[in-house]
Amino acid sequence: SGWESRIKLSAKPRSGTGHTVLVTGAAGFIGAHASVALKRRGDGVVGLDNFNHYYDITLKKSRKSKLLDRAGVFVVEGDINDVVLLRKLFGLVHFTHVLHLAAQAGVRYAMVNPNSYIRSNIDGLVNLLEVVKSSIAQPAIVWASSSSVYGLNSKVSFSEKDRTDQPASLYAATKKAGEEIAHAYNHIYGLSITGLRFFTVYGPWGRPDMAYFFFTKDILNRKQISIFEGPNHGTIARDFTYIDDIVKGCLSAIDTAKKSTGNGGKKKGEAQFRIINLGNTSPVSVHKLVSILEKLLKVKAKKKVVLMPRNGDVPITHANISLARMELGRVLGEVKKTSFPRNNLAVEEYGLMYRV
Ligand code: NAD
Repeated sequence: SGWESRIKLSAKPRSGTGHTVLVTGAAGFIGAHASVALKRRGDGVVGLDNFNHYYDITLKKSRKSKLLDRAGVFVVEGDINDVVLLRKLFGLVHFTHVLHLAAQAGVRYAMVNPNSYIRSNIDGLVNLLEVVKSSIAQPAIVWASSSSVYGLNSKVSFSEKDRTDQPASLYAATKKAGEEIAHAYNHIYGLSITGLRFFTVYGPWGRPDMAYFFFTKDILNRKQISIFEGPNHGTIARDFTYIDDIVKGCLSAIDTAKKSTGNGGKKKGEAQFRIINLGNTSPVSVHKLVSILEKLLKVKAKKKVVLMPRNGDVPITHANISLARMELGRVLGEVKKTSFPRNNLAVEEYGLMYRV
């Protein structure tokens, strides 16, 4: 059918690495940028996204029409829990890699819809791993974990060996569980799996549920913004990481991924399993963030400091990226600290989007 031939066309690598990558969550913030970057360098790319309504659906549709369609990335509208669809896709295309970014993101929404986290981040991951495991090509998997797994640990900076047994949100708990599920699949079935712990990603086409985005919107609309902090927490700080650095990290993880060994007669445990931080190594306090936005938007913010941390928030995130430098650096070229915001435009665009 037309559908199948468009998928096959989109999946065909043009040059370069010769990879064919399935990107789940392709209409999402990171997924859209990563899909376009993969396509631009000549990889075959097929996107998958369920276009759910967690946030403004028009933003996802614009990412599709303005970024993905233009780059020639075909996006299948479907859910990672639709195993029939997944099997069909993996039968149609022999993916070399899966960049798995589809998830229920956000910390606060778990108070509204806790089951969506279990469905997408746990059930969805298992369904995807099941299909990968029984596919012919057994692609290597690179997937999004999160800095939130460090939870209440405030001994910064965070290195991958630090404790992750105190999640502060259901979101964090599902990401942590995902890492353990991934390990089990690596161990039993010889799948090659890399989990990337992203630290607060920002940039154009970003998510409207993130602080820098709704602060910008409220500052522009002259609305009061609340800054939450607490006696035990102090000032909240985040290791804001620019989208291009995250995309580079994803591509490097794909390029350095080893082939899955499978379990057919091979020694168990020899397939690759990695968990790697991907952050900017330079936390910015929420007060600093607001003053940067004020300067960029040329509007003074009406601030209200609330002396109480919000549910699910952790005090600080700060990546140690020595492992990323070792594992991904040779492909990444430069993994270095950049000042925030790395690109003023990145922040200004949020304002502009809300002005239209
Ligand atoms: P996003 O919400 O913009 O993208 C996720 C996409 O996945 C969305 O387009 C959504 O429609 C899709 N999706 C969700 N559930 C699905 C399902 N069951 N089936 C198919 N598609 C589904 O989020 P993002 O910021 O691009 O994040 C991408 C990944 O990175 C997520 O796994 C997220 O948890 C992780 N992450 C993001 C950040 C960040 O700061 N943005 C930080 C750490 C980790």
